[in-house]
Amino acid sequence: MRRLRRTKIVATLGPSSSERSVIAALFRAGADVFRINMSHTSHERMRELVSTIRSVEEEFERPIGILVDLQGPKLRVGQFESGPVLLSKGATFTLDLDKTPGDVSRVHLPHPEIFQSIEPGHTLLLDDGKVRLTATEISEGKIATHVEVGGNLSDRKGVSLPDTMIPFSALAPKDRSDLEAALDTGIDWVALSFIQRPEDIAEAKKITRGRASVMAKIEKPQAVTRLDEILDVADALMVARGDLGVEMPLERVPGIQKFMTRSGRRAGKPVVVATQMLESMINSPVPTRAEVSDVATAIFEGADAVMLSAESAAGKFPVEAVSTMNRIAEEVENDPIHQTIIQAQRADPEPTGADAIAAAARQIAETLELSSLICWTSSGSTALRVARERPRPPIVAISPNVATARRLSLVWGVHCVVAEDAHDQDDMVERACRLAFKDGFAHAGRRVIVVAGVPLGTPGATNMLRIAFVGADAGSGL
Ligand code: PEP
Repeated sequence: MRRLRRTKIVATLGPSSSERSVIAALFRAGADVFRINMSHTSHERMRELVSTIRSVEEEFERPIGILVDLQGPKLRVGQFESGPVLLSKGATFTLDLDKTPGDVSRVHLPHPEIFQSIEPGHTLLLDDGKVRLTATEISEGKIATHVEVGGNLSDRKGVSLPDTMIPFSALAPKDRSDLEAALDTGIDWVALSFIQRPEDIAEAKKITRGRASVMAKIEKPQAVTRLDEILDVADALMVARGDLGVEMPLERVPGIQKFMTRSGRRAGKPVVVATQMLESMINSPVPTRAEVSDVATAIFEGADAVMLSAESAAGKFPVEAVSTMNRIAEEVENDPIHQTIIQAQRADPEPTGADAIAAAARQIAETLELSSLICWTSSGSTALRVARERPRPPIVAISPNVATARRLSLVWGVHCVVAEDAHDQDDMVERACRLAFKDGFAHAGRRVIVVAGVPLGTPGATNMLRIAFVGADAGSGL
């Protein structure tokens, strides 16, 4: 099965898409990676979903990526004595460490760390930003605030602190237990929510120890400020526009999306654009014009993947939402302006053998109009450096490691194939031609380019480039 687009599609699974038949239909329609959101999924359900995805993978004989998204340290207020309260603009409201149920003047905030770091003048956003407070006075166990934007507040509503650096880990006890359970089932990517600093990623990597790649969800201003440092340690980024649009003015989100897609591409790390991409398709079989434009913009920017959340997890038209994204991506990528933008954003190769070879391979493949650029990749690093070049011909990544192939299913332009390790260079080239031919990426009588690190299995040691002629017998013996 061959996709006719470079941009990947991530589809979140949920009540509308838990059945095997729906998951298979989503894959057929174009989903490359499935996301399991641990904010709404039990361990048992997660295990069932992983095993269903693996059985779909077997049926289609194509590697599929699984992304487990951890809830992160979600802050919430406590409970109210007599139901929701109405906070009026201009009133004073206090958040404190007193566990007794709240009223219109105060509520419990069960997070002592906040009291040590918040300062007068900092903003507190409650219930996805519907209510806005400014801290006026901090005393022992109490934060007095002024209500800037009033509204209803009820039990356990979320709290965001866009100005405050909170000294806690991005992995709450629930996240640690979810992460261990996910790693035990053999997932490919783990996404960390509400990270603030690079140390948050390093902490998760100490637990994953290479068993899954780590994606940093950028949804807090503190993380935007330290994006370069976060990119140094993370394996991928997600533009988590939902919470980002709560913690920062909405009108700043598009600029941050562009900044992130460019930074990710420069670093050679995948970037996923997420949230509300086809929101109206939760209830409608067709999207709005603005939504189509939003997906197209992410594709013109060169994002590695576009993501569906509630559209595929809880909507009425999950398969239609994936097909719509698929059609938009195919159309946009065929637009000559797409090529111009993608080429114009290319970053210079870094001074390494891998980048020099990736850049040369792209140039040769484009100059000679080769059918594909094939790379042997053990850890995935050669394929990532080639994808960073955004070559015009398709990229075929052959790996002896199924885990690598699954992780690469998130990466722009990469068609992954799992195959036994090659014996020597000639075997490598011959098998590359056969495997690419089988999946429709090489044609008898035409040429391809093969890149690899020799000996195979040495991550980052890309040092070989061969132009190979695809013989008339490439299809025999397959
Ligand atoms: C987001 O906030 O945009 C996001 C993707 O995270 P979640 O779906 O976990 O809220």
